[in-house]
Amino acid sequence: MSKLVDNFGRQIAYIRLAVTDRCNLRCQYCMPAHGIDIVPKQELLTFKEMYRLIRVLTELGVTKVRLTGGEPFVRKDFVGFLEMLSYNDLLDAINITTNGALISKHITEIERLGKVKNINLSIDSLQAVKFNEITRRNAFDEVFNTMGLLEKSSLNLKLNVVVQSGINTDEIKDFVRFTKDRNLAVRFIEEMPFNGKGQREMQENWTFNKILNEIKTEFEVTEIQSEKSSTSRNYAIENHRGTFGIIPAFTRTICNDCNRIRITSTGTFKNCLFDDGVFNLRDFIRNGASNDDLKKLFLSLVKAKPANGFVAEANRTNGDVSESMSTIGG
Ligand code: SAM
Ligand code: SF4
Repeated sequence: MSKLVDNFGRQIAYIRLAVTDRCNLRCQYCMPAHGIDIVPKQELLTFKEMYRLIRVLTELGVTKVRLTGGEPFVRKDFVGFLEMLSYNDLLDAINITTNGALISKHITEIERLGKVKNINLSIDSLQAVKFNEITRRNAFDEVFNTMGLLEKSSLNLKLNVVVQSGINTDEIKDFVRFTKDRNLAVRFIEEMPFNGKGQREMQENWTFNKILNEIKTEFEVTEIQSEKSSTSRNYAIENHRGTFGIIPAFTRTICNDCNRIRITSTGTFKNCLFDDGVFNLRDFIRNGASNDDLKKLFLSLVKAKPANGFVAEANRTNGDVSESMSTIGG
C-alpha cells in the first residue's frame, strides 16, 4: 500500500477535520464579537463526503482523526457521524476538540463507541466571570460541569488553555495546581493571530519558554517522554495526578516531526495550519473523482508539505494570517 510521505520523509498519520465552521461561543482570540461570515450549508462537506475522504486517507496510512470546527457538536447529528466513522476498521482513534457546552448529554453514548479516545476541552479560565468574558457567552457552569463528567468517564481528557497576555496569564499556575488531584492533562497553547482580524495587541509575548518559566517559579517539573509527533512538550510534577504540556503553536518549534494534514469544513486541503489552503477536495469529489483519483491526489499534495509553519506562512498568497480558527479547524 502506498503511504503518504512528504519530501522531508515525514509520514502523515493524522488528519484534522473541521466538521463545521459554526460555533455557539465567540472566543475573543478566535473570532470577532459578531462572529464570522459562515458559508451556506451546501458548501460544507456532508458527513458522507467526510467519511469517504477519511476512508481513503486511512487506506494511505492515516490512523488517527481529530474532529474539530467551529464547534463539532453544533452540527446536527454529529454523534451519528461519530458512529459512522467508528466503523472504519483502519482508524485507531477518533479524537475530538470541543468547547464542551453541548456535550454533557452525549458522553455515555460516545464512551460506548469505543473508538473515541481523547477529548480536548477548551477552557481558558477557571473563573466564571472571566470565562464568560473570553467566550462572550454564559457557558461557564455547563462547561465546568462537563469537565467533571468527562474526568469521570473512560475518555482521556485534556484541557486546552490559550494563553492570552494580561487576560488569563495570572491563572497559569492555578491551572497547574488544578492537576494535583485530577486525572487530566492541561495544555497551554501559545496564542496565534487566527481570530478573524489578525495580530492582537499584546502587553507581553507569552511564548513557550515564558509559560514554562512562569510554572517553574512554583513547581519542580520533569519532562515526560512524548510521542515524536506530539504537538506539545509535556511535564509531570511530583505528587500530581495529572500532567501539563505546552504547545508552541506560534513559535513553531515542533514542525520537524509534524505528521498532520487538515481538511476544513468546506473541503479545503491544508498541509499546514499556516498555509492558505492547497486544494478544494469538495469540488473534486462533487465533480466525480474516484477513490483512486483521490489517492493519487493526496499522494501528490503531501509532497508539497512545507518544511515548517514559517515557510508555509511565507508562501501564502492570500495575505497575512488573520482567518478565524473556526473556519480552519483548530
Ligand atoms: N470549538 C472547539 C473548541 O473551542 O475546542 C473546537 C474548535 S477550536 C478552533 C480548536 C482549538 O483552537 C481550541 O482549543 C481553541 O482554544 C484553539 N484556538 C482558537 N483560536 C486560537 C488562536 N487564535 N490561537 C491559539 N489557539 C486557538
Ligand atoms: Fe468557538 Fe472554539 Fe472558536 Fe471558541 S475557540 S469561538 S469555542 S470555535
